[in-house]
Amino acid sequence: MSTPETSPIRLIMFTSKDCVYCPPVESIVREVIGSGMQEIVHVSTIDIDVDKESASQYHINALPTLVINDEIVLEGGMEDEAVRDLLWSTLLNYAFTSGETEELMKSALLTITMNSIDSLNNTSILRPSVGDYAHISTYQLNLLSLYSLDPLIPHFLYRAGYKLGMYGIMHHILLTLNPSLGRTPKRKMRFSKLGKALELYFSNREIYSTKIAHGAHVVEQTENTIHLKVSELASSSIGIDVGEPMCGFTAGQLAGVTVAVMGTDASCEEQICLANGGDFCLFKISIDQAFKKPTLPPLEDKDERTIRKQNFYEVIHETTKIIEDSLLMRKAQRHNAGDFIHISVIQPIIITLKLLDRLSGVLLYSGGRELGIFGSGKNLLYRLVEEKGSNGIVSLEEGISLLYDYLTHPTSHLSRDYGRVRSIKIDEKTYHIEIEENLYVSGMNVTNLDKTFCDFQAGFFAGRLQILIGTEPQVKEIKCQGNGNDICIFEVKI
Ligand SMILES: [Zn+2]
Ligand SMILES: [Zn+2]
Repeated sequence: MSTPETSPIRLIMFTSKDCVYCPPVESIVREVIGSGMQEIVHVSTIDIDVDKESASQYHINALPTLVINDEIVLEGGMEDEAVRDLLWSTLLNYAFTSGETEELMKSALLTITMNSIDSLNNTSILRPSVGDYAHISTYQLNLLSLYSLDPLIPHFLYRAGYKLGMYGIMHHILLTLNPSLGRTPKRKMRFSKLGKALELYFSNREIYSTKIAHGAHVVEQTENTIHLKVSELASSSIGIDVGEPMCGFTAGQLAGVTVAVMGTDASCEEQICLANGGDFCLFKISIDQAFKKPTLPPLEDKDERTIRKQNFYEVIHETTKIIEDSLLMRKAQRHNAGDFIHISVIQPIIITLKLLDRLSGVLLYSGGRELGIFGSGKNLLYRLVEEKGSNGIVSLEEGISLLYDYLTHPTSHLSRDYGRVRSIKIDEKTYHIEIEENLYVSGMNVTNLDKTFCDFQAGFFAGRLQILIGTEPQVKEIKCQGNGNDICIFEVKI
């Protein structure tokens, strides 16, 4: 029998030859599924004039009709954007982790925890040529573009953060910073020591300095709650009011690590956020209370979703100037903590998101693609196009060459996201882009996992190339440093 992890999601689309609304909907289905979901979503198309039996079985009374796992999710034509949103949110709801993946996640996190500790201790370096700290903007833009995809994303980030808190590096660092935490049998005492350890974790110290924030204070502590105020937290130091809290991942992580330390259920809510008009971020951690499982936020109506998406595009656009000022050292985003964070802040996020459920690779790819199309650095790209004397849309070969120039430009290297880059022509329609010392995976070497991890970057390349060549290419990571290779290799095809 197939497990939830292996059984594909079934999508049936009912059409007919005369249906005018069907072709556009079908092309969106192909687009969404085609961006990496082929292996997990099985699509069939049924012409109701040919297969009358199936049509009557599902009581089809409008065309097109989309059925996902025997449930009708769409009837009749809709606007492209609405169809895309609908597919995303429905498919997301069908994807959940199995126990087996959870074991893999644990062992993967253990591996990167060991590597990161050596790097944070300065006993080894994961990226000899560029160093183990990368610019804060990469992290922020990753989060912003993921948030932009769907109102459900913050919830998924919380869930991923929760896993990371339970199995990841944070628990280890807390025990190292406050060794008595692990030796205190009395729960009440241990909870108060947890508060102290968290203050140290978020402080900008000499040892174990991930530079994730500038500092933290427990502003209020009771027997079962901690109110933790964190200043200059990396995810929220954007310098713009985003309109919603941006630290869902950290909130999840705080809940998860509390579970690991206290051995009891815990939850965490971000009550104030620097990215949402606050002067700092305030987290309320609760234990021992009638435990409420975080519920999915209600699906907003279509207009609200469109407005939200538009808002995120504007935020991503507005950050361009702020990021540029920071990279060129004109104005820091974080005056105290500085603008570079350790790669161990980002890598576990990629691992937990990728392994959280079957669709997250696709999510990461889409987030990257949005950023490739809308994100900062486009001015440089256009300048390179001008310098080459091309105007308008270029061929794939020229596009790859421009992308290479872009990736190796000194300005692109300021954020220290990766080391050496190579581009190789395989044949007229296929190219490889090779990346060394990629911040997402350097030193991860999770060899027991047959997975690649740089979906976000693959999507980003696809987005950047789309601007240049006028159509979306297929970009697939075929080798990844994250599972033991020397480099990451991305295959680009038209
Ligand atoms: Zn925040
Ligand atoms: Zn990779």
